[in-house]
Amino acid sequence: MAKAENSDGEKLVKAFHGAHHAHGRCVGRALSRADALCRQRGARLTTMRRRVLELIWDSHKAVKAYDLLDRLSDGEKPVRPPTVYRALEFLMAHGLVHRVDSLNAFVGCSGADADHNAQFLICQQCGDVSEMDGAAIGKAVARQAQLAGFTVRRQTVELHGECPRCTAS
Ligand SMILES: [Zn+2]
Ligand SMILES: [Zn+2]
Ligand SMILES: [Zn+2]
Repeated sequence: MAKAENSDGEKLVKAFHGAHHAHGRCVGRALSRADALCRQRGARLTTMRRRVLELIWDSHKAVKAYDLLDRLSDGEKPVRPPTVYRALEFLMAHGLVHRVDSLNAFVGCSGADADHNAQFLICQQCGDVSEMDGAAIGKAVARQAQLAGFTVRRQTVELHGECPRCTAS
C-alpha cells in the first residue's frame, strides 16, 4: 500500500493494488489487525465473524451479504441470514468492514484503527474498491452541512470511476 501526503501533510492512503499483488499479505494483515483490535477491546472474534471477515477480504471487491451466505453455506449445515447480518454488524461496529451503500455490499477496512469517515473509490470496470482516509474531506463535508443547518449522523463519500490499473489498460 503506497502512502502519499497531500499539501496539508495529511496522509492519504492510496490502496489500489495491482492485479497480481501478494493479496495473501493484505488478508494476513487484516486478520491480525482484527485479532489485535478485538483482544484490546475485549470483543470476541468468533469463528463465524472471522470467517465472514476472511470472505470479505477474499478480494478488493465489495461483497454482497447473499454471496457471503452462499459461500458460508457450502457445507452440510446451511447458515441463516441473521447469522451473517449479525457478524457483519459486529465487524462494522469495530471498523473492520465498511458498507458501500451504492453497491449494497461490504469491503474490508484497510486503514485506521480509530473511527474514521472513509471515502471510497469504486472502479466501475473491475469492481475494486479502495478506501481513502482523507480526514480533511470529511471535515469539509461536515462543515458545509453544518452551514446548511444540517446535523450529520453518518457520512458516506463514494466516488465512481476507473482505478489506475483499468485506466492504464
Ligand atoms: Zn490485496
Ligand atoms: Zn476504513
Ligand atoms: Zn479497475
